[in-house]
Amino acid sequence: MTEEVRVRFAPAPTGHLHIGNIRTCLFNWLFARRYNGKVILRIEDTDVARSLDEACDTIVDDLRWIGLDWDEGYAVGGRYGPYRQSERLDLYRKYAEELISRGNAYFCFCTPEELEEERKAFLAKGRMPRYSGKCRNLTGDDVARLSLERTPVVRFRVPQDTVVLDDMIKGEISFDSSGIGDFVIMRSDGFPMYNFAVVVDDAEMKVTHIIRGDEHISNTPRQIMLYEALGFPVPKFGHVAMILGTDKTKLSKRHGATSLSYYREAGYLPEAIVNCLALLGWTPGDTREIMSLQQVAAEFGLDRVSKSPSVFDPKKLDWFNSQYIRACNPDRLLDMALPYLGGLGISEDVSAHGEGRERLKKIVVSVQDSITNLSEIPKEIRFFFGDIVEAYDESAKKWIEGPTAQPALDGFIEVFSNSCDTGFGVEEIQAGLKTVIGSVGVGARKVLMPIRAALTGRTKGPELHVIMEILGRERSIKRAFAALQEARGNHDGATSL
Ligand code: GLU
Repeated sequence: MTEEVRVRFAPAPTGHLHIGNIRTCLFNWLFARRYNGKVILRIEDTDVARSLDEACDTIVDDLRWIGLDWDEGYAVGGRYGPYRQSERLDLYRKYAEELISRGNAYFCFCTPEELEEERKAFLAKGRMPRYSGKCRNLTGDDVARLSLERTPVVRFRVPQDTVVLDDMIKGEISFDSSGIGDFVIMRSDGFPMYNFAVVVDDAEMKVTHIIRGDEHISNTPRQIMLYEALGFPVPKFGHVAMILGTDKTKLSKRHGATSLSYYREAGYLPEAIVNCLALLGWTPGDTREIMSLQQVAAEFGLDRVSKSPSVFDPKKLDWFNSQYIRACNPDRLLDMALPYLGGLGISEDVSAHGEGRERLKKIVVSVQDSITNLSEIPKEIRFFFGDIVEAYDESAKKWIEGPTAQPALDGFIEVFSNSCDTGFGVEEIQAGLKTVIGSVGVGARKVLMPIRAALTGRTKGPELHVIMEILGRERSIKRAFAALQEARGNHDGATSL
């Protein structure tokens, strides 16, 4: 590409970004990075009743967290600012006046009631409703007179034409403008309508490529006509097919969580989310799935973006997330896990450094391969804390009450109490467990399961020797004793009946 590529993120400040607009931002970002272009962040807040700074900051925070940066725009500045539409009203007014003076736009004084009547009349005739053009030919005198009564809107005078969109993803699409009535570009309150503001801004900010969801495709002929009327070069458009839920209907809240904030709070990693979303509509052309943002950016192109919708499956995101969690280095994993561990009573001091941190790291690493998100960690590691196991779950209880619990726990206590002078590292523990298995003589599983149940209160979890090493000798034996008593109690109870 010879000209500098300039793309934009153009979210409205209506809350956290959701899966759909992150994917749009991502594709723009990938396209810009692939072609050494620039990314602009513009806040589209003219439709929003009250646009709060807080809402804009939410967008900035979401984008930064997910790892998509921008070169110009809101919060970073640049030569084409301000980057919030509500601060650019003079500019829209200026261009609207220009269009009016050239006869490409005109004032319209129709009331909502009149427009509603027109609409009904069109429908009654079985035609698509559109503006009739009633105010198209008002004279200067008419305008002056009507202006005393009410504030007009500004409408664009739609030329009779065929508009051709050469879409970078969908190919060529022709629109007959006769189906498009003269549309409002400026409201009576001085705010621009979306189609107008977006054209003025994209032109002023020298945006060269507009990549967005295909729900905007019906806006595009309107925008192309505005570019032409304003004498601006028309940028290239690429409309990405929509995202569906697993039931093949348009992704929405009905499908469960679609907001970034949900996934962020639940402990999904930003790189897992962007990896998953990159493959929602784009393919590397082979079977690779795990790809970093940089890898995708090096290969990204709209030629491999699908024309048809793609399905967002939260289970697939779980898979990506678990892969990224597994690949995490222990320190990062611990740092990411810390905010979730509040309920475990770990003091910040302990977790931040020193021996406490090392132990905590081991604990978190012990469940690294079995979790799909970080918020699952506390329930997976709770048993490591405290001296004894607070409660046995149903399956653990069965093993502790089972026939092999007593010999297994007896053997366990004997072997590990008698080996006090040897270490309690993984190798010694494994050797000790082997001895226990040998001495009970009922097979490994029937010995190890009651021991696992005794030490953790559960029947699933990290490998037993890993658990024991973290718990330490004293606590492991203590827990085995407690379970043995439980087993004996049950057993005695059963025989005395
Ligand atoms: N603010 C619009 C949206 O969020 C941007 C549309 C566009 O990219 O032109 O849908």
